Amino acid sequence: MNRRLFFQKAGLGTLALSSGVVAACSPQTSPQFTDKHFHINRGYHQIPKLRLSMDRIVKETVGLRPFRASGPRLETEQLGHKTIVHNYGHGGSGWSLSWGTGHLARQMVLATNEKKVALLGCGTVGIATARLLQESGCEVTIYTKDVPPNVTSNLATGTWSPASRVCDPAVARPEFRSVWEEATRFSFRRFQFLLGLNDIACWGEEYSVYDEVPQRAGTSAAGGEVYDIPGLLPERVQLSKKEHPFKAEYVTRRSNLMFNIPSYLHDQLSDFMLYGGKVKIQEIKKLEDIDALPEKVIVNCMGLGAKRVFNDEELTPVSGQLSCLIPQSNVTYKLSTRGANFISRKDGIYLGGNGIVGNWDTTPSREQTEKVVTTLQKLMADMRG
Ligand SMILES: Cc1cc2nc3c(=O)[nH]c(=O)nc-3n(C[C@H](O)[C@H](O)[C@H](O)COP(=O)(O)OP(=O)(O)OC[C@H]3O[C@@H](n4cnc5c(N)ncnc54)[C@H](O)[C@@H]3O)c2cc1C
Repeated sequence: MNRRLFFQKAGLGTLALSSGVVAACSPQTSPQFTDKHFHINRGYHQIPKLRLSMDRIVKETVGLRPFRASGPRLETEQLGHKTIVHNYGHGGSGWSLSWGTGHLARQMVLATNEKKVALLGCGTVGIATARLLQESGCEVTIYTKDVPPNVTSNLATGTWSPASRVCDPAVARPEFRSVWEEATRFSFRRFQFLLGLNDIACWGEEYSVYDEVPQRAGTSAAGGEVYDIPGLLPERVQLSKKEHPFKAEYVTRRSNLMFNIPSYLHDQLSDFMLYGGKVKIQEIKKLEDIDALPEKVIVNCMGLGAKRVFNDEELTPVSGQLSCLIPQSNVTYKLSTRGANFISRKDGIYLGGNGIVGNWDTTPSREQTEKVVTTLQKLMADMRG
């Protein structure tokens, strides 16, 4: 039985029952039915509208995605008698790939047979890698300039996007694709174990609302998504006009993983400490600083910070601004449209949508916030319901 038929029948059943009760107890009145929970009656599927205004914006941030055209650097390098395992340069996919590339870095560390490991950096990539090393019996000390919330990882959107600005396919070596796939699959499995733990990771609904089928961005440079693993996530479904309230020709919905960033970083770093990990605040300015560390194996998870120390000319920032609205309890979804997107997290609703290649400036722009707010305000105003 389809939903419409079900509700029609349910409505008739209720009608028959209530008219009997009415007839027995009181003078005949025509029954009143509230239909507020029966969204199907409206002829479309309703979703709550986001309340947007500039006075509800409580925070603006600009984060710098650490982009490398050839993809994240995952390799070992000898520095005198020390082995350096590189694990940095994840572009717009560091959250998603953190466990997967952490696993690949772990394999390189374990191959050295050293158990005392220095790990540089305390962002999402560093913390995941450190946890995996601990699980394999390593004693890990994190050396880092900053800890959360003062890391780029704290300035991310927080969705599963393992291919976002991960490389330029015209530059990346063909074998990178299988490395990416292995890392992506490992990460995806790992996130399944983090679901239900204080909501640090959860599944949510993601709508794409466009007037035409969007072009796949990122077939060049630092633009967008370049790879995909069909079947890993539930399929994206195109919605008919009755299935959504938007004024747009092309609307899709899919379920996606989302990360509640502050609680996630706090939770994972606490776990790291619980398992005996140490964190030392120290800025690495030059290779000699690494040489001076007591550990023989060093894992480099410094993100964009690796550029200067390792003279990595390929590593480039792709800046992204987020503007945070006060949380709205009935809005729990993510939405993307031309020039703007938002995601509902526990700590707020984050509006974003830009990426400026080569921009090192982390000063938020009020103009960018206004642009995104105006775009989304119009979309909400045009929505039925
Ligand atoms: C706007 C925006 C949205 C994003 N959205 C998503 C998303 O939805 N999903 C997703 O998967 N990814 C997303 N990303 C990408 C993701 O945030 C990054 O890829 C990820 O944060 C990189 O993590 P990291 O640990 O390598 O770097 P960081 O978080 O930058 O951590 C680097 C660490 O190294 C330390 N460090 C740096 N230099 C030195 C030094 N010289 N000495 C000692 N320590 C040093 C820092 O203090 C820090 O602790 C987004 C990024 C941005 C900017």
